[in-house]
Amino acid sequence: MNEYQTAGFTAGVIGGGVAGLTAAYRLLQAGFRVALWERNTQLGGQAAAFPVAGSALEYFYHHLFMSDRDIVALAEELGIGDRLVWLPSRVGFYANGKIYPLASALDVLRLGVVPFHDRLRIGLVTYYLQHVHNWRRFEAVTAWDWLQRAVGRRAFERVWGAQLRAKFGPRARDVAMVWFWNKIYLRTQSRTSLFEPEKLGYFRGSFNVLIDRLAEAIRQRGGQIFAGIGVEQISREADRWIIRDSTGQATAVDVLVVTAPSPLVVRLFPNLPADYVRKLTGTVYQAAATLLLQTRHQLSSTYWLNIGDLNLPYTGIIEHTNLIGPEHYQGWHFVYVSKYVEQDDPYIQLDDEGIFQIALEQLPKINPQFSADWVERYWVFRERAAQPIIPLHYSQQIPEHRMPLPAAYLANTTQIYPEDRGTNYSVRLGNTIVRIILDDLKQGRLRIPEPALAR
Ligand SMILES: Cc1cc2nc3c(=O)[nH]c(=O)nc-3n(C[C@H](O)[C@H](O)[C@H](O)COP(=O)(O)OP(=O)(O)OC[C@H]3O[C@@H](n4cnc5c(N)ncnc54)[C@H](O)[C@@H]3O)c2cc1C
Repeated sequence: MNEYQTAGFTAGVIGGGVAGLTAAYRLLQAGFRVALWERNTQLGGQAAAFPVAGSALEYFYHHLFMSDRDIVALAEELGIGDRLVWLPSRVGFYANGKIYPLASALDVLRLGVVPFHDRLRIGLVTYYLQHVHNWRRFEAVTAWDWLQRAVGRRAFERVWGAQLRAKFGPRARDVAMVWFWNKIYLRTQSRTSLFEPEKLGYFRGSFNVLIDRLAEAIRQRGGQIFAGIGVEQISREADRWIIRDSTGQATAVDVLVVTAPSPLVVRLFPNLPADYVRKLTGTVYQAAATLLLQTRHQLSSTYWLNIGDLNLPYTGIIEHTNLIGPEHYQGWHFVYVSKYVEQDDPYIQLDDEGIFQIALEQLPKINPQFSADWVERYWVFRERAAQPIIPLHYSQQIPEHRMPLPAAYLANTTQIYPEDRGTNYSVRLGNTIVRIILDDLKQGRLRIPEPALAR
């Protein structure tokens, strides 16, 4: 029996992404008995990888920043810290039919899409944002308005405005300045010097290295993982939560941790108070449709290409093998062609072949040699809850971790703030939610009925 008398209590975790796996692992460490449900047959959620070319690769491109300390600490704790590599990245900006390097402060001064004094303004504003610690001052203003005022209309339209449009489409004007500030502020910590390219982290062998190790640690401690089994219904009976899953099985648990996206939470708990439902439904997610190409040749020498050109209708082109070389993938090159869209955008409704055909027309703009002959294989992956859109005064709209129901806790990507969602913050969510549960037990806010102790 540990300090919080958790032994014998049962916790149910919904979702086997990074947040759910971390929460399950921490609950087991705290002495709970744990069951985790993941509706996909594969664990890892948005960060999962699948086998390709003698290795594995994420469905959606992934890397870490040096500011991502929680995930690095977890990797160390799990004994896989040596699998993390930190590599210099090549970032670029595509505009006017051309790729401009955009990896360092000097590159900003050379960014020929705007006149020199505009570049100077962008450089100064970037420097300023890197040094502002108080993000609350950016809660009441949109990135669109603040940046336009700060760098002037022309520089804004051609550089940051173009990027906001490429990521958020018709919602570009709604995004709070906090979101943009965070991108600049945290990225500074991935650099040793403003004049050096930033270093990005990656697990040798893919993010599955972390996901598999977490799953192994959960199983070693007696945790049960139901992969390929979704939770369909939740009800409260005799002071316990009853989880009905897609196999028809019902399981009773004392404490519930939900890591699924907010629309699903509303569906699973039909009796939530209106105020909490408003918070859950108030966050809108951008969806992502990502085409992954396995090619014979390198598309460009850039790892991360931001798109600031309406003639190239993508958010970014991420050439993974410019971070982790093709020698790790039997010589093949891998390129993600990424597009964030509204939930009902016609692009995400296209079939895979349709998305591939568009890329065949568009990618010669990056490299005129590119053709269908280059492509050995392609895949299209879609994610509906890809990116919560952060509106003004978001701190007042975030759904609380303690759901307004007994012994139920929420830990999903809409609660990550002021940082942007990412695997690091899902690890932090998993850590935080278990700290809250333990604190509630200690303070008597969470009461588990006596019979649980006898089980
Ligand atoms: C295109 C793209 C690029 C990204 N790039 C990066 C990057 O470079 N670096 C980075 O750190 N992060 C990146 N991210 C973000 C990162 O992957 C996510 O923020 C993180 O993995 C979210 O983890 P999570 O556990 O909070 O949520 P999720 O991964 O969404 O996990 C939730 C899980 O719940 C499951 N679920 C839902 N409903 C049910 C149900 N009824 N029953 C059981 N299970 C259910 C889902 O299947 C899912 O596996 C990227 C994301 C996308 C989409």
